[in-house]
Amino acid sequence: MKIRTKVPGHQQPINPPLRVGVISLGCVRNTVDSETLLAGALRRGNKHSAVEEADVVIVNTCGFIESAKQESIAVINDLVALKKRAGLKRIIVAGCLAQRYAEELRQGFPEVDAFIGALPVKSNARQADISLTPAYFSYLKICESCFNHCSFCVIPAIKGRFHSRSQEVILEDVRRLDQRGVKELNIIGQDITSYGMDLYGEKKLAALLGRVSRVAGSIEWVRLLYLYPAHITDELLEVMAREPRICKYIDMPLQHINDRILKLMDRNMTRSGIEKLIARIRRKIPGVALRTTFIVGFPGETDKEFQELEQFVAQVPFERAGAFVYSREEGTRAYSFPRQVPGKVKQARLERLMAAQAVVSEGLRSKLVGRTLKCLVDGERTARSEYDAPEVDGSIHIIGGPLVRPGKFVDVKITAVVGHDLEGEIEST
Ligand code: SF4
Repeated sequence: MKIRTKVPGHQQPINPPLRVGVISLGCVRNTVDSETLLAGALRRGNKHSAVEEADVVIVNTCGFIESAKQESIAVINDLVALKKRAGLKRIIVAGCLAQRYAEELRQGFPEVDAFIGALPVKSNARQADISLTPAYFSYLKICESCFNHCSFCVIPAIKGRFHSRSQEVILEDVRRLDQRGVKELNIIGQDITSYGMDLYGEKKLAALLGRVSRVAGSIEWVRLLYLYPAHITDELLEVMAREPRICKYIDMPLQHINDRILKLMDRNMTRSGIEKLIARIRRKIPGVALRTTFIVGFPGETDKEFQELEQFVAQVPFERAGAFVYSREEGTRAYSFPRQVPGKVKQARLERLMAAQAVVSEGLRSKLVGRTLKCLVDGERTARSEYDAPEVDGSIHIIGGPLVRPGKFVDVKITAVVGHDLEGEIEST
């Protein structure tokens, strides 16, 4: 972004610093990568600015499934229009879509100045000291990519081999985030339960969490996002139950429950294995909130197999559950599976499953009415409990009482369920 002069030993930028805007699409792992991309631009003396005022915009794309790809392409189109209309100087397209479709994008978008694929993960590199989230919560990526190779998923193909960051640099990051005033630390990866398998030859998440808890200082919540069910160990559940800082919250995508479909998906688990795991989790961590994700309309999924999933959601309650329609992705094994399910059928199954889940989660939330929960204030009149992950789960609407600044913890007495959210009154600040 800067042209360097050839004056020996002294580098004077010819151009004034550029204003750099960042658009981060897709998952929270992309948020961390966007922070890394921005840090790189700022290290070259540029300034961070809002996209509307920027000279250069970096869009960190998602290329995981069709809907995410369409969203990324729509944003690139908007930036191209902005470049033509409002003098945006440069567009940089980064991330999974750029990694997966570099040539197609280059031909389709000649107005784009640079394409940056998936960022390499260096085991001994610290995470960028830039935050694109509110100052009081942060995402900490401990590993990249995935060993599991589910038949419908392109992530291993996009991100390459599984890569853990060393415990030492992760602990350095935790200390730095604590000093920066972070109160909620969200530990992320595609599959954090495999953390350490490459670097240490064994699963090291439980051990890492023990060490994180000892250096976390004034960080009050440590949340784990994306646990691969088949890799959840008793050791991990025990450290989650024992460590007061670790949120009693488990996000573990199951994707389906029918044995034949689970096998076709290569999920390394059966229905009875999943049911035993859920019972073990609820026994070892009483009061834990479980979040999961399902895929409907996987190739060959029959009405009967979908009904089994629908009944499972009604019978085995999850505090939170999301679902996607199956997205046929070239480069995956499931792409060529027979009996692809028609779009209308997939959409109808998605609506039925979400309707069943809405009843379940409302029932579970109503059990919180009358309870007092420790909450992190997120906005003027909103907060979250340890059972609500940022940017995905619902909120608690605070009724009356003093205005409390975001990032502070308050005790909130839950008074009502409001759709996907809760309502409550501050008991103490
Ligand atoms: S575990 Fe997740 S990231 Fe890994 S292959 Fe399966 S769906 Fe993809």
